[in-house]
Amino acid sequence: MRAYILSTGDELVRGRTLDRNAGEIAAALSAEGLTVVGMTTAGDEQPELVAAMRRACHAADIVVMSGGLGPTEDDCTRSAAAQAAGVSLRRDPALEAWLRERWAERGLTMPRSNLRQADLPEGADAVPNAYGTAPGFRVEIDGSHLFALPGPPREMRGVLADEVIPRIRRIAGPGDQVVQTRTVETFGARESDVGERIADLMGRDARPRVGTTAARGTIRVVLHAEGPQVEVAALLADGEAEIRRRLGKLVFGVDGATLADVVGTRLLAMGTTVSCAESCTGGLLAGALTGVPGVSDVFPGAVVTYSNTEKTRLLGVPEELIATAGAVSEDVARAMAEGVRASFATDLGIAVTGIAGPAGGSVLKPVGTVHLALASAAGTTHRRVVLPGDRELVRELAVKCALDLLRRALQQPVGVVPRTTSREL
Ligand code: ATP
Repeated sequence: MRAYILSTGDELVRGRTLDRNAGEIAAALSAEGLTVVGMTTAGDEQPELVAAMRRACHAADIVVMSGGLGPTEDDCTRSAAAQAAGVSLRRDPALEAWLRERWAERGLTMPRSNLRQADLPEGADAVPNAYGTAPGFRVEIDGSHLFALPGPPREMRGVLADEVIPRIRRIAGPGDQVVQTRTVETFGARESDVGERIADLMGRDARPRVGTTAARGTIRVVLHAEGPQVEVAALLADGEAEIRRRLGKLVFGVDGATLADVVGTRLLAMGTTVSCAESCTGGLLAGALTGVPGVSDVFPGAVVTYSNTEKTRLLGVPEELIATAGAVSEDVARAMAEGVRASFATDLGIAVTGIAGPAGGSVLKPVGTVHLALASAAGTTHRRVVLPGDRELVRELAVKCALDLLRRALQQPVGVVPRTTSREL
C-alpha cells in the first residue's frame, strides 16, 4: 500500500519550527510495510491545505497528516478535509461530550471556541487523543483514507501508535510484508574509509540495501530490507554480522546507540570507576557521562582545569612540564590523567587538552590538535588527534574521541595498554 505524509502549520513553512512529525510517521508506516511515496508541508491557508490533501489522496491509499486541529481560526484541518472530501462539517455529540469531560476533569469550563473541535467532516470517524484535547479523525477522500492527527509531537506519537497504526493494519489486512532498517554505528574512521571496506555490499540491487551517512564524526552504516518478516530479520542479522566483521573495532553499537551510553553501560557492567580532567572540553565530557542513568556508581567526578595554574594546583601537573612541553601536549595530557585518577582514586583517569580555536593554533599544533590520555593501574595510554571544524565541532569531537578511547580500553583484555596512537579524523 502507498502512503503519503502531510504536515500543516505556518510555523513549519516559515521555518520557525522544524518538522519533527513527518520523519517519525514515515518510519512508523515503513515499518508496517507501507511504501511512503511523498511528504508535503502546507501552511495554514485553507485553499493550499485542500489542494495538498487532494494531491496526497490521489497519490496514496493512506495519508497521515499532523497539525491544525486546535480551536482557533487558523486551525483549518477539519474544514479543509470536509472541503477536500466534498462534504460538510457536522458536530459530533459524542466528541462534544468527550471534550466537555476533558475540561471538567481539569476543573475548567470549556471555552465556546473549543466546541469547533467536536466538528467532523460528514462520514468521518473520530480518532481519540489520550494525550491532549485536540481529537483526530479519519475521513475518506477520493477512495483514500486520510488520518488527521494533532501537531504537538508528543501527542502525534501517542495517537499514531495507539489509534492509527491499529486502524491501518485493519485497512491493509493480513500481510507479511515489512520494511526495516538497522544502523550500525561506527567511530574512528572517515566515511570514505568505511565505504571502501564495504564497497562491494553497497550495490543498488543488494539485499539488504547498504549505505552510509556521516554526522559529526559518527559514521553510520544503514541496512534496509523489505519483504516477509522472517526473511527481513535474517537479512538484517546477516548484514549486521558482515559489517561488524569488516569494520571490527570501529563499530560501537546499533540503532542510534551513543558512545556515552555504550561506555557508561560497560563501566557499570564491569564495575570500573573513572574520573576525568578536562581543559578544552570544559566539562562536556563529564556532561556526556552524566547523561547515562545510574552512572554515579562508577563516576565520582571530574575537574575542569582551563588555566595552567589550575592544572598544577588541582592535578599536580608540574609547572616545568607545562613550560617546556606546552599545555596542549602528550606529557601534560598524561600528567592530567594520572593526576585526576590519583585524586579521585578511580580505576581509570581520562584527560583532554587541546586547541579548539579559532585562535591559538600554530604550524606544529594547528587548531583542532587534541591530546587525550587514559591512565590505569597498567599504565597510561595516549592519543593525539587533529580534529576538523569550528570550535563547537572540535570540542564535540574531542569528547567523542575521549569516549572512544575509553570504549576501546574497556574492550581490551585486563592489563593490556595500547601504545600511543596519532591520527587525523
Ligand atoms: P493543538 O490543539 O495542541 O494546538 P494542533 O493539532 O492544532 O494541536 P498545531 O496548532 O498545528 O497543532 O501545532 C501545535 C504546536 O505543535 C505547534 O506550535 C508546534 O510547536 C508543534 N508542532 C505542530 N506540528 C509540528 C511538526 N510537524 N513538527 C514539530 N512540531 C510541530
